[in-house]
Amino acid sequence: MRWLKLKALCGFCCRCRAGGIIPPLAQQLHREHIERVVREALERSGATPGQLAAVATTVKPGLALSLGVGLEFSRRFVRQHNKPFIPIHHMEAHALTVRMLRPVPFPFLVLLVSGGHSLLAVARGVDDFLLLGRTLDEAPGDTLDKVARRLSLIKHPLCSALSGGQAIELLAKDGDRKRFYLRTPMGQTYDCCFSFAGLRNQITTIIKKMEAEEGVEEGALLSGAKDVAAAAQHAVAAHLAKRTHRAVLFCQANNLLPSDDPTLVVSGGVASNEYIQKVLSIVAEATGLRLLRPPAGLCTDNGAMIAWNGVERLREGKGILPPDADVVYEPRAPLGDDITEQVRAAA
Ligand code: ATP
Ligand code: FE
Repeated sequence: MRWLKLKALCGFCCRCRAGGIIPPLAQQLHREHIERVVREALERSGATPGQLAAVATTVKPGLALSLGVGLEFSRRFVRQHNKPFIPIHHMEAHALTVRMLRPVPFPFLVLLVSGGHSLLAVARGVDDFLLLGRTLDEAPGDTLDKVARRLSLIKHPLCSALSGGQAIELLAKDGDRKRFYLRTPMGQTYDCCFSFAGLRNQITTIIKKMEAEEGVEEGALLSGAKDVAAAAQHAVAAHLAKRTHRAVLFCQANNLLPSDDPTLVVSGGVASNEYIQKVLSIVAEATGLRLLRPPAGLCTDNGAMIAWNGVERLREGKGILPPDADVVYEPRAPLGDDITEQVRAAA
């Protein structure tokens, strides 16, 4: 069954209209729409509940209030229709989405960049991940959303219906990234972790200075917003590229990737950014990796990726529970075996 993360569909996405997710509002919207969305997904697919092989649902990590609504609904559904239940890790689903469209053998290196995560991992199997690095503060999607909010892009005629990241990408196309100097984060640390909070501070300082120069109040649209967008997007891309390069070197030194056709997969909402994709392709080319990315629409949250993770698990008989299993959601759930310290020590 297609499982839908409603904040991606609700049309009142807390990220674009309110500038960020408001948990009680997200929960209310999940509650209001879940029944209809599931019914419509079934109708469109032409399947009856009885024909479903199993039900796959995100149970970790994420907003407790939203996970709770999904899990509660699914548990009722699987009991009512006597179907197996497959709990899904949201980030594993982002990582494996690419395999829905083409064969990508394990192991491969994966960079996940989204609204809540920034991580590098080796995907060794459907439920087997080696975590090389993660963000120490905020995620790149969150950073871009906050910059877009600080620039009041919601008021921009071309950006009002876009997420923060999409708005930044659109404006950046006409911007001059070289107008501002932004230090790439973590220049002195040689591991595979990320940090975006300091970068956001640098950008905020620039915005404040521009407001003073243009003589406008905080929250006004700046004529130089496109240049800030271009500089911010470039800085995020440069940071992601440097850490990814380091991860490739670590993998190559430790034989973690196959010598034949090694692959770098990038996924998560921020991966839909064409500029970031282009910068990453330079790293991939320089290190002899094939770069793969799901189509942009499947990089951001979508129900198909959760269903696909269910299919992969079903095929391998992994993590399939009976309808009456006791399952709890987990707001925090790191991905895979964490070897970030080992990576740091090897740097
Ligand atoms: P997580 O997967 O970490 O739980 P999430 O599910 O909320 O977070 P996604 O749906 O994968 O995140 O991605 C949403 C994020 O991607 C938002 O922060 C949004 O601004 C960002 N994003 C979407 N499109 C683009 C783009 N074209 N360029 C940059 N960022 C983008
Ligand atoms: Fe996501």
